Amino acid sequence: MEGLRGRRAIVTGSGSGIGRAIALRLAAEGVAVLGVDRDAQGLALTAGEVPGGMATLALDLVTDDAPARVMEAGRDRLGGVDLLVNNAGIGDAKALHLTNDADLDRYLDVNLRSVFRLSRAFIETAAPDAAIVTIASIFGMIGFVNSAPYSATKAALIGLTRQMAADYGPRGIRINAVAPGVIATPLTAERLTKNVWYRDTMLNATPMRRFGKPEEIAAAVAFLCSADATFITGQVLAVDGGWSTTKYWPPA
Ligand code: NAP
Repeated sequence: MEGLRGRRAIVTGSGSGIGRAIALRLAAEGVAVLGVDRDAQGLALTAGEVPGGMATLALDLVTDDAPARVMEAGRDRLGGVDLLVNNAGIGDAKALHLTNDADLDRYLDVNLRSVFRLSRAFIETAAPDAAIVTIASIFGMIGFVNSAPYSATKAALIGLTRQMAADYGPRGIRINAVAPGVIATPLTAERLTKNVWYRDTMLNATPMRRFGKPEEIAAAVAFLCSADATFITGQVLAVDGGWSTTKYWPPA
């Protein structure tokens, strides 16, 4: 992809699943990546798959000093940062009446507050050709059952993406989101194997007739970071096999 070689990226949640695939794809495109995750072992596995290695920082993104520490590591280990991929997040939520305050706070802290704070730290020093890509979800776009706090935070990330695009477009900074459909990762593994209703309902509503792969999200992120996307900002790119744009159901 054009315009990626030599860029420097922070990828959060890159110790697993989609974040790992994003880190590997960006690294394969010649981007110097700082992988950030609270799972040090997962980060080491990702780094081991990058020829030449990958800078890593193991920390919990909800801690007060996380944004400062991440940006400092970006400066120290990469010499600065051009791209921020906000990917870390938690899933598997419940309906509103089953969600207590502690659970609500956990979703707000991890999925929204940490993204808001890290994006703010990134924007402070971002150069005119910098870009942010945030991983939202199709559940932030379309209502579905049993997902109240998760969906609320993902919808908020979409709102934040559009607000930041308006605020920082004049500085030349592009800000987009990717909304994955169901992607086979450790986050969804248990639900997809144990919850037959969920698996079949999601699969039946997907015209492509399969779940997505982390590499397919990584490809969309790489595109949005690349020089092929220099006039794209404030967008939410659904990568979901058609789930969010159709009312597909298998024909009788
Ligand atoms: P995953 O396999 O669970 O990977 C997420 C990684 O982020 C894990 O290593 C996790 O560590 C880390 N993480 C979570 N909270 C963190 C925190 N506070 N500080 C630092 N690291 C943290 O999940 P995934 O499926 O790749 O999902 C990645 C993103 O895509 C999430 O934002 C998710 O909401 C979004 N998404 C996923 C799907 C899907 O179907 N998979 C669909 C739509 C959107 P722990 O293992 O310790 O939690």
